[in-house]
Amino acid sequence: MHVARTAESARSIARALPHPLGFVPTMGALHGGHLRLVERAGAENAAVAASIFVNPLQFGPHEDFARYPRAFDRDCETFERAGVSLVYAPSVEAMYPPRFSTSVNPGAVANRLEGVFRPGHFTGVATVVLKLVHAIEPATVYLGQKDAQQAAVLRAIAKDLDLAVSIVVVPTVREDDGLALSSRNAYLSPEQRAAAPSLHRALAHIACAVASGERNVANLLVQARGLLASPLAWEYLEIVDPQTFEPAAGFEAPALAVAAVRAGPTRLLDNEPIVWSAN
Ligand code: AMP
Repeated sequence: MHVARTAESARSIARALPHPLGFVPTMGALHGGHLRLVERAGAENAAVAASIFVNPLQFGPHEDFARYPRAFDRDCETFERAGVSLVYAPSVEAMYPPRFSTSVNPGAVANRLEGVFRPGHFTGVATVVLKLVHAIEPATVYLGQKDAQQAAVLRAIAKDLDLAVSIVVVPTVREDDGLALSSRNAYLSPEQRAAAPSLHRALAHIACAVASGERNVANLLVQARGLLASPLAWEYLEIVDPQTFEPAAGFEAPALAVAAVRAGPTRLLDNEPIVWSAN
C-alpha cells in the first residue's frame, strides 16, 4: 500500500494503479462504516484509493477540530488489511499552503439544515473534496448515506462542475442498537451513549408511521421529537426532499427523515429514508 503526502505524488501513484479506481475520502479514526465504503469500492473497481485528512476548513471556530480523534498508524493498517492500494494523507500545510485562497461555493442544498447550524461547513467540504478528486482522479467516489446532505451537496457539485466522476452512496452501518457508527461516538459519556440510539428510533418511527399510513408531517415530527431520550436535544429534526433538503411537500415522492442532536458537546447526525407506498 502506498502512502502519498502531496497531490503530485498521489496523482502519479493513482495513475499507475489498475483502473477503474474507486475513491473513499475520510477523516480517519476508521470504523466499520468507512470499511463498508472500502468494501463496496473494492467490489466495483480494479483498485481502491482512500484519503485521511482532518480538514480544518470544514470545522467552525468552536468545533472539535483540535480534539477530533486521530489514529493514523492504526488507520493505515486497517486500510492495508482492507485491500486499499493508495492512502493520500496530506498535512494541513500541504493541502493549504500559505496564500491558499480559493474556495468552492456550493449551491442551495448547502444552505439548509447542516448549512444553517454549521456556516461554511459545506464550503470546506466542497473545496477539499474537489482537491482530493483532482489528486486521485477516480472513476467513482464512495460516500456514506449517514452524511446524506454532504452526499447531496457533492452530487450537485459533480453535476454543476461537470466532474468526470460517479458518486455512489452506501447505506449507513449501525451498532446493534441502531446507533450509526461515527468517529464522534467515542466522545459520548455512558449516559449519552445509552440515550444515543433514540436518535435512530425517532427517525425510524417516522418511516414506520408513514408506511402505516400517517401523512401529517406536523404530527410525525412531534412524535419523533418526543422519542428522543434525555440528554439528547435536537437542533433540527425534519422531513425533507433528499435532493434539495427543502421540507418535503408530501409523501408522493421520496422523502428523508433527518436530524442533528446534541449529546452534551457532541453532535450526532442521522437520517432514515422514507419509502412511500400507496395504502
Ligand atoms: P468521515 O471520516 O466521518 O468524514 O466519513 C467519511 C465517509 O464515511 C463519509 O462519506 C461518511 O458519510 C462515511 N460514513 C461515516 N459513518 C458512516 C456509517 N456509519 N455508515 C456508512 N458510511 C459512513
